[in-house]
Amino acid sequence: MRVKHSLIRSILLKIIGLSTAVITGIALFSYFHVYEIETEEQKALIKQYVTERVRTDSEIFRLAKDNLEIFSRKFLQLYHSDFQVTDEEFWSYYFVDSEDATRMKRVYFDGILTSYGQYFYGLSSFIGNNQKVDDPDFKRRLVLAFRVLSELGPAWVTNFANTHVVYPENAISLFYPTEPWGLKARANLPMNELGVIRSVNKKENPQRKPVWSGLYYDETANKWTVTYLSPLDEGDKHLITPAHDIYMSDLINRLVENSPDGIYNFIIREDGYLVAHPNPPTDEQKWVGQLSLDKIDIPIVKDSYKLIKKSAKDFLEVELIENNVNDCYLAVKKLDGPNWLFVRVLPRKLIRQEAHAAALKVFVEGMLILLFILLIVYFVMRTQAEKSLSQLTVAAERIGLGDYGAVADRSIPLPLDAKNEIGLLSSRFVEMATNIRDSQKNLERIVEARTKELEQANANLMELSLLDGLTGVHNRRALDRNLIRLFSDAEAGLGVFSIMMIDVDFFKLFNDTYGHAEGDVVLKQIAQAIMESIRDDDRVFRYGGEEFMVIFTNADIATASLAAERIVQAVRDLKIVHQKSTYGTVTISAGVVQVDNHQSSDDLIQEADSKLYQAKNKGRNCIVV
Ligand code: GH3
Ligand code: MG
Ligand code: MG
Repeated sequence: MRVKHSLIRSILLKIIGLSTAVITGIALFSYFHVYEIETEEQKALIKQYVTERVRTDSEIFRLAKDNLEIFSRKFLQLYHSDFQVTDEEFWSYYFVDSEDATRMKRVYFDGILTSYGQYFYGLSSFIGNNQKVDDPDFKRRLVLAFRVLSELGPAWVTNFANTHVVYPENAISLFYPTEPWGLKARANLPMNELGVIRSVNKKENPQRKPVWSGLYYDETANKWTVTYLSPLDEGDKHLITPAHDIYMSDLINRLVENSPDGIYNFIIREDGYLVAHPNPPTDEQKWVGQLSLDKIDIPIVKDSYKLIKKSAKDFLEVELIENNVNDCYLAVKKLDGPNWLFVRVLPRKLIRQEAHAAALKVFVEGMLILLFILLIVYFVMRTQAEKSLSQLTVAAERIGLGDYGAVADRSIPLPLDAKNEIGLLSSRFVEMATNIRDSQKNLERIVEARTKELEQANANLMELSLLDGLTGVHNRRALDRNLIRLFSDAEAGLGVFSIMMIDVDFFKLFNDTYGHAEGDVVLKQIAQAIMESIRDDDRVFRYGGEEFMVIFTNADIATASLAAERIVQAVRDLKIVHQKSTYGTVTISAGVVQVDNHQSSDDLIQEADSKLYQAKNKGRNCIVV
């Protein structure tokens, strides 16, 4: 019999099932654990990042503030000094153009070395043709600003596009080496009515706060720009407004740099104008300069802005906002200068990916370890258990087939040396087989003896069954057997035989006269007489009633006749008185026949019987051959 599933296989399958469940559990646990840890870590990271970035990116705004403070201080010093500006000096710098606008002369832009050793360049100035140029203070402020611009402007040109000054009057002065702006401006341009410049006027800005323009695209410089203006007053009087144009391109480029892990930033104004986003604005939008939310189609920005507004925080410190609609975290902090909000977007998908990867790693590593353990278990079990078990299986099969000896005398291998349950089981097996074998041998011996006794008894019984109970000679059954054998021997040519059929004469009368019991005694005497009259090879049978049959083996009819006569004489010689018999004593008659062309024993007996009948008819006490 072959086993359907080996023990090792089912044990391994169980280990695989249970371990896989455990490993899956651990992997799930590590997923949630890593997700939690990763969330906290990433939140902390973006907070730290935003703090750092805002600090760096605010630097330019702080610098702009500092610069304009220096500018104002310097201007006030000159303004309060006894520095006089004559008409002559003023007009040495300015001229009136064909459209009545007053502008600074071109040489101050191209470059000129003055008589007192100062080199002017990059400067331009414009006074609209609707603006009177007769107020000495106005003219003094124009010249003083021009002096300060020429002194400080060149030092700031690396970080700032330009330094310029606007006035409550319709005028502007610039240090702007790349652009002669004051020479190009439209003659009737109402400078002081432009939105940003108007917002520093006393009427519109009674608190006298510095003003940041929105972001706009400077077509000449090809850069994103923002203007910072800081009004300067003397008592109730608004003197000038120094200003910087600040290039935002670097800041914006830094912002839109592709972050490989899917985290990105954008900047939005508190009033919902998008300042910068990694999706580059279209050309058309560049003209607009800054984008109101209704002009953009970035759902995450719109949703995030709503959440930022709703949180009602001041964002002086980094605030973390959960954006469940877009499945991300937002870290928000205000940039120092123009009060823009710097927003860093952390998609939660990233955290999940991290957790997935961690869980997968745990699962794969777990399964690998399991695989190794399974291999080890498999080999250990193969060497330790499977060989032993298959040996035990073979032994059991032999016992099943009744071959106890093979196990008992250890002619088949068994793990008897194993110092464990298998070893114990093996020696019990051998003991059991030995006991069974010994009992079986004992049983066989007993059966053998009993069989012999039984055979003996059977033989005795057989002997008894072939003898006649009364006379002790062979009975009719024995006769039948003998005849069959003799017939086959005769047919095979092994010898000739004759038979003699005997009947007691007038025996009925004897019984009637002397009683049945006396008759039995006579029958015994006759049988005895016949026995004593024949050779050892011949045999006497009681044929029935008071009839006997004698078989003369190896005897032809002549020999048989002589023997028959001897028998008849032996009975006569008994001289048993029988008054009713013709002869006065008990006599017998007989028919004698030699086996010849007889078909069967019946044939033979029939012939003997008929000869006996003839003997009776002849007068009895004789034989017919
Ligand atoms: P016959 O000379 O013609 O043979 O006369 P018979 O009286 O012997 O006639 P038959 O052979 O026909 O009779 C047989 C008698 O033998 C009948 C029976 O009373 C007697 N007999 C048969 N068997 C036994 C027996 O076992 N014991 C005794 N005592 N008598 C027997
Ligand atoms: Mg008879
Ligand atoms: Mg008779």
